[in-house]
Amino acid sequence: MEPRKCPFCNPYAEDIVVKNDLCYARWDRHPVSKGHILIVPFRHEPDFFFLTNEEREAILALADDCKFVIEKNFRPTGYNIGFNVGGSAGQTAMHTYCHMIPRYPGDVQEIRGGIRAVVPKF
Ligand SMILES: [Zn+2]
Repeated sequence: MEPRKCPFCNPYAEDIVVKNDLCYARWDRHPVSKGHILIVPFRHEPDFFFLTNEEREAILALADDCKFVIEKNFRPTGYNIGFNVGGSAGQTAMHTYCHMIPRYPGDVQEIRGGIRAVVPKF
């Protein structure tokens, strides 16, 4: 998808929760938990491994701001934070972004392993 048609390249101003020079955050439209937020580089780059070091640092810096915003609205007791990189990892939008998923006591039956559960049985 070309950048001018990419929804992540063209966010609605009212959807931006927090931002810095290189990335912004918005609530996930299909949240898997209360407060699920996406941290999105402004630059159109489909592949996480082609982000610049500055973009990666900006994403991590914004994660701190997102934590503050999430915890103003919700009371999570943990987080899963990560990227889907490539079709076999479930990446569907060809613009890199970071999922920041707040977690709550008892929100899933089997908590052990956390993000390892993206591959249920190997
Ligand atoms: Zn884009």
